[in-house]
Amino acid sequence: MSRLTSLKSSLQSQPSKLSTINPDSWRAGKETSAQRGYGYKWQKARAAWIEAHPLCEYCKREGRVTAGSVVDHITPHQGDMTLFWARTNWQTLCGPCHNVVKKTEESRLLDL
Ligand SMILES: [Zn+2]
Repeated sequence: MSRLTSLKSSLQSQPSKLSTINPDSWRAGKETSAQRGYGYKWQKARAAWIEAHPLCEYCKREGRVTAGSVVDHITPHQGDMTLFWARTNWQTLCGPCHNVVKKTEESRLLDL
């Protein structure tokens, strides 16, 4: 005598929005002009560079052997794509060294 008619689903009336999710939406609105140069091409070039030059240049100068994780532009490219892609302007740095460089560069700019 027990009929489960009370669980008739009304959930099906909910609109399904899952199929409309854009895979790029996670970065929508986050992109700056500087980051536009850091696309897929850069990710690949950067990975290849680190593989060929795995050690932090600054640590190497100090006699330390540290695995680098950042490809730094020796001369800040400031949007100059020639400078950006010039391998002669690239060096591998570890995270801490890169932070020091960036801070130094910023303070240098502020002194101008
Ligand atoms: Zn370092």
